Amino acid sequence: MEYYSPTELDHAYTLLDKYGDGAVPIAGSTFFMSHREELFDAADAVIDIKKLGLNYIRLNDDGLHIGATTTFNEIFDHKLTRDGRYAILSDTAGELNTNEVRNMATIGGVICVAGEVDMPTSLLACDANIIIGSSRGTRAISMSEFHVGYLNNALEEGEMVLEVHVPQPPANTGAGFAKFQRTAADLPLVNVATHVSLDGAGACSEARVVAGAATLSGVPERSAAAEAVLLGGIIDDALIESAAAASNDIECVNDFRVSAEVRQLWVRCGVEDTLRQAAARARQGGEV
Ligand SMILES: Cc1cc2nc3c(=O)[nH]c(=O)nc-3n(C[C@H](O)[C@H](O)[C@H](O)COP(=O)(O)OP(=O)(O)OC[C@H]3O[C@@H](n4cnc5c(N)ncnc54)[C@H](O)[C@@H]3O)c2cc1C
Repeated sequence: MEYYSPTELDHAYTLLDKYGDGAVPIAGSTFFMSHREELFDAADAVIDIKKLGLNYIRLNDDGLHIGATTTFNEIFDHKLTRDGRYAILSDTAGELNTNEVRNMATIGGVICVAGEVDMPTSLLACDANIIIGSSRGTRAISMSEFHVGYLNNALEEGEMVLEVHVPQPPANTGAGFAKFQRTAADLPLVNVATHVSLDGAGACSEARVVAGAATLSGVPERSAAAEAVLLGGIIDDALIESAAAASNDIECVNDFRVSAEVRQLWVRCGVEDTLRQAAARARQGGEV
């Protein structure tokens, strides 16, 4: 197996084209190293993408732009994500243990893994877009289209993730994240992210309710039923409980770690908790 560490995007694209499906881009390599035997044994070339200048968090008029090799700790502790309207990203990054893994693991890596991970759930709740590059140019797809199945993403041969774009939310928007796991260092058994916007009268004008790491489909899913309950309503205790009860339209997976019934209950609890947090943040103008 060959190892490359390009410093120019064009060189990375040339290598991706040259090795085709035998090319493995690596960033923090926390997933790659722990799965190299079963998943990457047949790889011909490992392309380290950390020197391509894709490590940044920037705020533009259209929202937040996070480069693919930005680490979890950088997202956890950045002034643009620590508080305010993008705080759910810091909340989510802080849930990945340990500190050593947070120093290495990247946002591009975690979305490409498409397994039992946390950040894609929050990114779907934020309606994020994924910016993809290759020698053929760049394209953007929504987070909802990026995961096409368990451990399966929408990248085509020769492509890599360049950036995650989180659109600027309307005023009076808040979001919350919750994770259920066995111990603090475990992967999630269930995670939930909710994102709500309030109109001038305080009613819910936009809602996204997402559960991940738990679904039968293997990818994070929105609860259409919970969102329908929220839209147009004042988010009080009764509405939160109704929305949480409605979230059982997300079908959970049953496996050796935990039953589908318990997961379903955790989704309901997670929706309830995160909606309280999201609504409180939205009422404070999305600035907390
Ligand atoms: C001890 C431990 C605990 C963990 N706990 C959690 C947890 O609690 N919650 C959680 O969400 N996750 C957890 N994880 C998983 C962790 O989030 C992922 O391993 C990590 O995010 C992967 O990022 P990386 O940069 O290390 O990716 P890499 O290992 O470098 O790559 C992962 C995959 O993505 C591909 N890839 C990487 N970057 C790109 C790119 N820009 N374009 C195209 N393909 C790319 C690689 O080819 C590879 O297939 C844990 C991991 C470990 C080792």
